[in-house]
Amino acid sequence: AAPGVGQLDTILPRIAEEVSGLTGQGRVADYIPALARVPAERFALSVNPLHSEPVHVGDHDTTFSIQSISKVFTLTLALQRFEGDLWARIGREPSGDPFNSLVQLEHEEGIPRNPFINAGAIVVADLLLTCLEDPLHELVTMVSKLAGSKIVVDGEVALSEAETGYRNRSLAHLMKGFGNITHDPQDVLDVYFAQCSLAMTSDQLARALGYLANDGVDPASGERVLEVSQARRVNALMLTCGTYDAAGEFAFRVGIPCKSGVGGGVVGIVPHHLTACAWSPGLDATGNSVKGRAALEHLVTETGLSVF
Ligand code: GLU
Repeated sequence: AAPGVGQLDTILPRIAEEVSGLTGQGRVADYIPALARVPAERFALSVNPLHSEPVHVGDHDTTFSIQSISKVFTLTLALQRFEGDLWARIGREPSGDPFNSLVQLEHEEGIPRNPFINAGAIVVADLLLTCLEDPLHELVTMVSKLAGSKIVVDGEVALSEAETGYRNRSLAHLMKGFGNITHDPQDVLDVYFAQCSLAMTSDQLARALGYLANDGVDPASGERVLEVSQARRVNALMLTCGTYDAAGEFAFRVGIPCKSGVGGGVVGIVPHHLTACAWSPGLDATGNSVKGRAALEHLVTETGLSVF
């Protein structure tokens, strides 16, 4: 194990203390009431080392809306089950534009830049409808198994996502116009809105993503989730595209594959060492959790872990 992994018990409380100084910075996502009313000062950090016991600090058993972090799970499911060429329909370049941008789609004939912007995740949902009878059921089953406990969709969040999802509807219809959505856009969006509304704790997320630190094998069950090369590719996409328009800044400051969501969660992967999930609802202007990013930055600094 890396030098700092044995000291996580003392490192985590120190990180909680350090990030508490950031209270007041960041704004809670307010596009739907269910997200807007989560107190900004909540904070959790959960770390799952591959070769030792999980460690956590703060609100680690409070569920939150995983939002865009779900895009990692749906991509995983599509890589497992979709038999055609996924990469003919979705790119793998960082977008340099906000997560819900329509502009590039117009210029690039309805092919989203990558699977982690909304347009890309909507195409992934379309692929899932092609290869699975009930994508949402399969997703919930897969995530529950990986998390080691039953995960559910927060119905209130899902309903509000659908009620306010005008931009996502535009993305789906524009791509339908280009022929890159094959099902009824409404059915595709139902999957997308529900996946964003999965409610999980930081403990559950850190555990569920163990396969990305473990060459594609779920460390808890020993079952293969992805091929080795697929797991590497998901990590590469998280590093380059996982944190909206701040992926460069994340790579620079945190230096590990990360995926964030507007619910305030951020997951990070240190291949062959550990997975981590930080949560705090206050977001910076790029939609990333202020304390979440700081916590992961402290974690890699104090443990000496990095992919570089
Ligand atoms: N559900 C929101 C949307 O699709 C946010 C997803 C996210 O970036 O976390 O607009």
